[in-house]
Amino acid sequence: MDILVVGSVAFDSVETPFGQVDEVLGGSATYFSTSASFFTGLKLVAVVGEDFPEEPKEFLSQRGVDLDGLQTRPGQTFRWKGRYGFDLNEAHTLETHLNVFESFHPELPSHYRDAEYVFLANIDPELQLEVLKQIKRPKLVACDTMNFWIEGKKEALVRTLGHVDILLINESEVRQLAGEANLVKAARAILAMGPSSLVVKRGEYGVLVFREHSIFSAPAYPLEEVFDPTGAGDTFAGGFMGYLASTDNISESTIRKASVFGSVMASFTVEDFSLNRLRQISWPDIEERFRKFQALTEFEGLG
Ligand code: AMP
Repeated sequence: MDILVVGSVAFDSVETPFGQVDEVLGGSATYFSTSASFFTGLKLVAVVGEDFPEEPKEFLSQRGVDLDGLQTRPGQTFRWKGRYGFDLNEAHTLETHLNVFESFHPELPSHYRDAEYVFLANIDPELQLEVLKQIKRPKLVACDTMNFWIEGKKEALVRTLGHVDILLINESEVRQLAGEANLVKAARAILAMGPSSLVVKRGEYGVLVFREHSIFSAPAYPLEEVFDPTGAGDTFAGGFMGYLASTDNISESTIRKASVFGSVMASFTVEDFSLNRLRQISWPDIEERFRKFQALTEFEGLG
């Protein structure tokens, strides 16, 4: 099953303790699509400015991403500038320029409207809802967001969450959205807003998946070289949703395995800036790391 994704396509400028890059390819939808493309086909909804080059479009389309829903508009492409300190778990946003996204109202191509798997990547929640309303009968809707939108557009976000099955956000954003310091209580409060699963991204500590009757924990892979965490969340979501869509199954056990595939994909992204690492890997690398994850968490039962 293909996945329809709406989110940002961006130029990122990023500083980490290990180096810095200016205006490299980024954006929530870009990371998500590249990661999910190892599992399934994609349909992308986004906007770029006239300054956006051809090469990334060719790259995405070679990876099986349908770009009929990617518009080019007069103006500049979305830009984000961020910094990480030695605690790589938290991005400090220095600048956000929505640019062409400020006035973007997508009209989905007709062959996008039958999508069954939908990912609302990090972008204005009003835009997420606008896209969702144009899809006939989605089977699974997952959604990501960030502090920028929780602070600026909480009401619209809560409205969007009413239509979402799986929400994926950072630990600090869970507390911020719920207005509750205890993570378990905060997760319960968010599940009451609509989603039946909440995936809490905890950076180098992995993810926790909260559902009504269960909690599942998947680690992050302990890497010796972590270069740039930008895009780790979107890449996780790409592996997670990609696996679910490829099996067309949303049972508890598939969701657990999908969390491990998400963690596998994110573990590659953080090894280099931008999409550099994702551009190098192939399926055997993914399988090899999946096995390492399995070994990392295997232990005997009580017997
Ligand atoms: P993450 O996976 O959370 O590290 O997401 C990083 C990506 O999110 C970067 O490539 C940015 O271009 C993008 N981004 C940052 N801020 C925003 C925002 N307010 N809306 C949409 N995308 C954003």
